[in-house]
Amino acid sequence: MSLTLETGNTLRIALRGRRLRRTRALRGLVRETRLHPEMLVQPIFLQAGASGREPIGAMPGQDRLGLDALPEEATRLRTAGVRSVLLFGLPSSKDTIGSGAWAADGIVQAGIRALRAADRELVIIADVCLCEYTSHGHCGVLAGSDEDATIDNDRSLELLGRTAVSLAEAGADIVAPSAMMDGQVAVIRAALDEAGQAQTAILAYAAKHASAFYGPFREAADSAPAFGDRRSYQMDPANGREALREIDADLAEGADMIMIKPALPSLDLVAGARARTTVPIAAYQVSGEYAAICAAATNGWLDRRAVALESLVAIARAGADIIVTYFGAEAAAWLREDATQ
Ligand SMILES: [Zn+2]
Repeated sequence: MSLTLETGNTLRIALRGRRLRRTRALRGLVRETRLHPEMLVQPIFLQAGASGREPIGAMPGQDRLGLDALPEEATRLRTAGVRSVLLFGLPSSKDTIGSGAWAADGIVQAGIRALRAADRELVIIADVCLCEYTSHGHCGVLAGSDEDATIDNDRSLELLGRTAVSLAEAGADIVAPSAMMDGQVAVIRAALDEAGQAQTAILAYAAKHASAFYGPFREAADSAPAFGDRRSYQMDPANGREALREIDADLAEGADMIMIKPALPSLDLVAGARARTTVPIAAYQVSGEYAAICAAATNGWLDRRAVALESLVAIARAGADIIVTYFGAEAAAWLREDATQ
């Protein structure tokens, strides 16, 4: 097909891409990426000593849940079609080593048992870190005094191993180490196997950037560091090749799946990981990504539903099989609505 321009020149149009965009059904026929509720993971914040739901200010629509709210939450997620949750805990007390993380009666351990009782088939993923349980808010234990304290990698490993075993014993299907301590996946795999928890899978937060997008989470999980920041263990957002090295290392240490976080700012890493490995890849659409969309939607500047679904499909298109998102149950409901239209 050629077109004669006013100048008399002829122009050949090689691609008539619009042919396949003409109708809704044609677009559906050739759609490359489809979201499904089963690929979404809903994060849940468990609050010790609380009952019911307490809204999280910086994350509209998200709550901290008391244990008594979990049966209803399990029903809500099942009805929406979301089959997986990622648990974080807010303990009633904290100490310097984060001992609440591996307490047999800890808030997440109790939450796992309550969710399992409510829904036997729910996939329960438990975050493995110390920052919600340490008085200083860092992801590992400290070496040195407050002023110039550093995070002691190797001493933290044993505690992360204990935490993972405790969560597995409570009934978690998957443990998700997020502390960014070197060697954490190997230590956790060995600890799980030794404790007879060989069936517990590891979803490694392999590439976790020190991102400003985590801001609202720190309010939600009450886990802001008391001093300093996390840049000595979380990755520099400027580094992509390093992220691939971290992914390689976690796979070599025995990770069953890997996670990339945050999601939209790291789509290149999701695509890079997809080209590199055959294991399932998860991406975490973090609190700030969620809050930004919510805030713009509340102001009438963006369409909440359209932007949320577009962001999720972009994450899937980049290569993520699993998306952890605060839109979980809501997005699943939208997808079901779309499917029946
Ligand atoms: Zn942490």
